[in-house]
Amino acid sequence: MPGFELFGDKERAHVNDVLDSGVLMRYGFDGARTHWKAKELENALADRMGIKHVQLVSSGTAALTVALASAGVGAGDEVIIPNFTFVATFESILALGAIPIMVNIDDTLTLDPEAVKLAINSKTKAIMPVHMCGSMADLSALKNICDTYGLLLIEDACQAIGGSYQGKPLGSYGDLGCFSFDYVKTITCGEGGAVVTNNATYHKNADHFSDHGHDHIGSDRGAEAHPFLGYNYRISELHAAVGLAQIARLDDFIAIQKKHYSVLRDALSKIPEVTFRRVPEGGVESYAFLNFFLPTAALAKNAHTALTNGGVDACFYWYDNNWHYHKKWDHLKNLKSLGSLPKEVKDQLPNYETTDFSKSDHWMGRTISCLIKLSWDTATLEKRATDMTRIISEVLAQES
Ligand SMILES: *Cc1c(COP(=O)(O)O)cnc(C)c1O
Repeated sequence: MPGFELFGDKERAHVNDVLDSGVLMRYGFDGARTHWKAKELENALADRMGIKHVQLVSSGTAALTVALASAGVGAGDEVIIPNFTFVATFESILALGAIPIMVNIDDTLTLDPEAVKLAINSKTKAIMPVHMCGSMADLSALKNICDTYGLLLIEDACQAIGGSYQGKPLGSYGDLGCFSFDYVKTITCGEGGAVVTNNATYHKNADHFSDHGHDHIGSDRGAEAHPFLGYNYRISELHAAVGLAQIARLDDFIAIQKKHYSVLRDALSKIPEVTFRRVPEGGVESYAFLNFFLPTAALAKNAHTALTNGGVDACFYWYDNNWHYHKKWDHLKNLKSLGSLPKEVKDQLPNYETTDFSKSDHWMGRTISCLIKLSWDTATLEKRATDMTRIISEVLAQES
């Protein structure tokens, strides 16, 4: 997945266009401007994702916030999210005074549709599946629920760009979709993000909201009107320039990920105790990670330690991770904020100390995720496959 691996002359050429003109901002300065990197990247993303509208923003976290805000999510609204995700998910919801309602995941490692149904009440406004580690939620089941209850479906596709579901690129299936182009994602801008949608109103809202409410009408920025309150979530031309080179390489990157993923998966498939994360029917992974289960949590933890000690880097045991799993989120559970949070958040946040997350624990405790790198050469990849198979088999043999 890492964007930090492959960049060079193409990125440099686009960045130099921006430095040569000195116009680093995406709006205004029409007289001096010779490039529209942000606009071009929005068009390229719209093409690749088969979607009508794209709004670039400053980060994936900003994309989530802007997507929610664009669709009218605000104070007291509840947004259903998985408890295996990245902290950005609940941060973006809290930023609007809305309430993150965490529910269990299943063997897809994403939202369990049954758990989602149980969490719906009159305050629920949106369901936000997070396509963690290169594969997707059961989007058609979630869409059915959204249609039944009149809820928004907002996809966090930050970790799964390039994957698809029922022939549609991930991010383009729901009412809105979000991407991140931070430095560790499949393609990068350094920092950046995008909101995608087929809904013209949401797009217009995202366009205005991410730039202080500017309506972007006319050619005098200072004279533009502000129909509603906004904020600054803009991307710069410099960042967009890097992304413009990277989007052209996305499909090459996905092909490399698929090749590397397949070698490792084929090797691990020879171990009968290893099983793989379920990909919903009609889904094609982005191959950003290889995710697999061991028979018990103790075995997964031991195997992860043995892999790390054995020099197999970039494998993760998310169950114990500070940033991706609810167990370590005391700051959320106890609402430890610098200033006071909105009353709605304090009143409506569930007591997560007593919430039953045993179903998520069942899957996450057994999960190991290995990052798929683009830079591995054949010898490195073969050695990795051999080392992983040997180390995991040794751990399994010790236990029996
Ligand atoms: C990276 C990431 C984000 C946030 O993106 P940033 O660009 O780092 O703000 C949100 N959700 C998920 C699932 C991510 O992996």
